[in-house]
Amino acid sequence: MKPPQCELRVSVVTDTSLAAYTTLRLGGHAGTVTNAVHTDEAVAAVRKATAEGRPLLVLAGGSNVVIGDSGFDGEVLLLRDRGVEVVGEDASGVLVRVSAGEPWDDFVAYAVANGWSGVECLSGIPGAAGSTPIQNVGAYGQEVAHTIEAVHAYDRIADETRVMSPADCGFGYRSSVFKHDDRHLVTAVDFRLARSAESAPIRYAELARTLGGSAGDRVPLRQARDTVLKLRAGKGMVLDPEDRDTWSVGSFFTNPVVPAEFFATLGEMPHWPGADGTVKIPAAWLIERSGFPKGYAGDGVAISGKHTLALTNRGDGSTAALLDLARTIRDGVRARFGVELHPEPVLINCAL
Ligand SMILES: Cc1cc2nc3c(=O)[nH]c(=O)nc-3n(C[C@H](O)[C@H](O)[C@H](O)COP(=O)(O)OP(=O)(O)OC[C@H]3O[C@@H](n4cnc5c(N)ncnc54)[C@H](O)[C@@H]3O)c2cc1C
Repeated sequence: MKPPQCELRVSVVTDTSLAAYTTLRLGGHAGTVTNAVHTDEAVAAVRKATAEGRPLLVLAGGSNVVIGDSGFDGEVLLLRDRGVEVVGEDASGVLVRVSAGEPWDDFVAYAVANGWSGVECLSGIPGAAGSTPIQNVGAYGQEVAHTIEAVHAYDRIADETRVMSPADCGFGYRSSVFKHDDRHLVTAVDFRLARSAESAPIRYAELARTLGGSAGDRVPLRQARDTVLKLRAGKGMVLDPEDRDTWSVGSFFTNPVVPAEFFATLGEMPHWPGADGTVKIPAAWLIERSGFPKGYAGDGVAISGKHTLALTNRGDGSTAALLDLARTIRDGVRARFGVELHPEPVLINCAL
């Protein structure tokens, strides 16, 4: 469907330092920074930049981007459109439409408070709801692909709005058709959630253990959320301005997925067998065994003191120093195990 033509109402923000809009607190300046508080403003801004051939970068929570020290020479559009609306319901569940700029954890808290089950284990993840399909956000045994029914998006090439099914989104492990491709602006996401006072079956062993049960158990929604938040906080995975262990993008590397035949040559190590002849290996284990413990430091940057996968800015770091540290770790793991680590965040105007 063609989006309505609308007057551009985005407001210009004076602080163009992108460090102000990223959880790493890194990144140089943008040409301009604009705020979209309504979906139609965001679509109009993207459409205009596309028509004029101008570079435009969409940012929401800035929690999964690494931006170069030279910044971004173009318009940075901050998504600040909020809203949660029930668009369908029956005895078993609800279909909830969440605006792209809605803070993700506010939505999870709202779902838990309303007795909607399906996203409780995704508590405490920073960023916005519209960003969750980009890398199929996941944690503690849940991922958004389990509950997304549709993604509403503006397609820059076709110049039209689309409603995309999960199959159209191509969800995979920390990936989708949206990642590393700015063709679509996600404007809202529809989640199908069960009406239940209990969580979805707990799939993650550490969470089940902490809850005092075993995998497959259901627990009260509130208990699932509180336990996940506690576990995450202990790993520096809940944003806290006072705690530099949280000045990160969360996990810097994805867990490598390798063919089973190759895995068999690696020796004993923790792993998760995949359904398709692949094996997933915990990147944190590889990193530690390659000589990079928690707290391992670079120039103003360091591996978090609470989690080996989080590379953090200690306050006076730079993107160049962060990427140097990431390269050292990647090369060390390759030399020790022959396994290639890949970055999870989107790298903008910089490279590993
Ligand atoms: C402490 C911490 C813990 C984390 N824990 C987890 C975790 O457990 N699991 C997990 O999966 N991730 C985790 N993350 C990563 C991150 O929070 C998620 O990927 C989150 O969904 C990113 O949302 P954002 O709004 O910050 O995206 P941004 O960083 O603003 O954007 C990320 C990318 O998506 C694009 N984008 C954003 N919104 C849109 C849109 N509406 N339409 C089109 N493109 C868009 C941007 O252009 C950019 O390329 C963590 C990060 C931190 C800092």
